[in-house]
Order: sequence, then structure tokens, then C-alpha cells
Amino acid sequence: MPNLPDELHKDLRINSYGHYLRRRFGCRVSKVNVDAGFTCPNRDGSKGVGGCIYCNNVSFSPKDTQSLIPLEEQLAAGMAYHRTRLGSEKFIVYFQKYTNTYASVDSLADLYRRALNHPNVLGISVGTRPDALSDGTLELLTEIARTHYVCLELGLQSMDDAILFRINRGHTLAEFLATVQRAAGRGFDVCTHLIYGFPGEHPEEFLKTADLIASLPIDSIKLHQLHAVEGTELAEMYRRGEFVPLSLRDYVTTAADFLERLPARVTVQRLYGSAPLAISIAPRWGLKNNQMWYAVLNELRRRGTWQGCRVK
Ligand code: SF4
Repeated sequence: MPNLPDELHKDLRINSYGHYLRRRFGCRVSKVNVDAGFTCPNRDGSKGVGGCIYCNNVSFSPKDTQSLIPLEEQLAAGMAYHRTRLGSEKFIVYFQKYTNTYASVDSLADLYRRALNHPNVLGISVGTRPDALSDGTLELLTEIARTHYVCLELGLQSMDDAILFRINRGHTLAEFLATVQRAAGRGFDVCTHLIYGFPGEHPEEFLKTADLIASLPIDSIKLHQLHAVEGTELAEMYRRGEFVPLSLRDYVTTAADFLERLPARVTVQRLYGSAPLAISIAPRWGLKNNQMWYAVLNELRRRGTWQGCRVK
């Protein structure tokens, strides 16, 4: 058995986010998704229209989170679910759907405080775009982080500006880098969302993203394969033969390569994206989330490697 860095879970060989939360808070912690009724500046015309070519928010919104349901009710249902299913004792409220900083600072302060107003809630996780974070919102998150856990989740998806343009992200790598620097050193975690498998993307190019993350003050990542769901431009591209999905083997291999180049200090929150069967187009691997985790982790075990073993 190799001598693994302290941050890594000895069996998993990676720094899983669940393991990190348990180390940090001393108990089982779950994220509870809520839908606070936001929209996105890349859909309503202020940054762009149509949104990212793969975006259909239904695909990453569990069915019990709908903006019409009051936040407190969403939270109660989510906490009960995780308590029963996983035995979780404490919770992080995850503002997930669309762009969760796309409102006035006063509205955000009210919303975030409502989420924190429960004794079993340790903090919040806020998903957003690099170009939708005002100085006032950063100050608000900084202030909340003095008393609660805060994770800012920034979508990058690809570090290649040509890909960002082709997928209609509406921002550049430079904008992402500037926002990471503005968010760094404020006492909260910064997480980056990445996707692998864009048309024309070469694995070696994608793997440079791990080197980029290693060079930045980023604490956590989420990675998933590009997948097409109904109601998106990507689904139409798939039907026209312009998007050829990765094979499961290619994804698992490249995800393991990526983890080997990702520093052990960076926590891993996700390795797979799934969508409800009714809207899932391609690829349709039929795996559950934990099955994908173990496919990637078993690949590391088979190689005798671990997260960060090939950090340059
Ligand atoms: S930034 Fe997020 S919510 Fe907005 S269009 Fe892209 S994927 Fe959808």
C-alpha cells in the first residue's frame, strides 16, 4: 500500500468532498439542493440568449426542488431525505439552479440568511457564473463565512476559449481567472465546475485543466461528462451527428488521468453527471452516481495510483 498524502481517503485514494466535510465538521454532512427561483444572465439577454448549449436546468434539478415551494419547505424535505437515507446530521444548503448570485445584494442576503436560520445548517454553497459576482455579493459571502461554512461554485466548464465560444458560455477563461483572484483569501471555499467531452476536445488538452487548477487558489472541483438532454442545442447537434458522446471507457480513463494530476489538497465533489431518463439523450451509460465513482476509483486502484501522484 503506497504512503498516501494525509488529505486522501485511504481506500478511495482521492480527497472526496464527503470525507473532507466529515474531517472538518466531525459528522456526516449532506448538501441539500434548493431552487430559489433565479434565472441566468446567459439566458435572459443581459449576457447572452439561449444559454449554454447543454443547459436544461431540469437535468440537474432533483424533483423536490421547485422555486414555487418556499425555501424552508424545500429544506425540511431535503434534510429529512438525507437524514433517513444517509444518516446525515448536519447540512449545507446548495443554491444550485441557474445563477444563484443574480439578484440584488439585499435579496441575496435575505435568502442566504433564511437558509442559515436552522440549527442543523452549517452553511451554504452557491452556484454561479464567473461574470455574475458583484463586489457587494463577494462582501456578503465573506461576512457569512465569518460564522458559517461557505462554498462558492464557479462554472468554468472548459479552459479553452474556442470551446467556451462554441458552447455559448458567454464568458472567457480570463474572466474566470479574474473572478477566482477576487474570491480568493476570503475565508470560503472556491469550487470549479468542469465538463469533459466537448466536440473536438482532445484528452491531453483537457488534462491541462488539472494543471491550471493546481496553479490557482481553488479548493474543490466538480467534473462530469458532456451529456445531451432533451430541449437543448446539444441534443440537436447529437441528432445531426455533430456531437459524438464519449465512450464510458474513455471517460473513466481520462477522469483517472485528471485525478492523478489534481493536487491532493483539492476536494472532489462530483465525477459524473446524470439526468432523468425521460430527458436523457446521450450518452446513456445507465450508471448510478456511486457506480461511476467506483468505476473511476477502481481504475486508480488498478493502476496503483492516487489523486495527485502525477502533479508536476
Ligand atoms: S450558465 Fe448555467 S444556468 Fe446559465 S445557461 Fe449556462 S449552464 Fe445554464
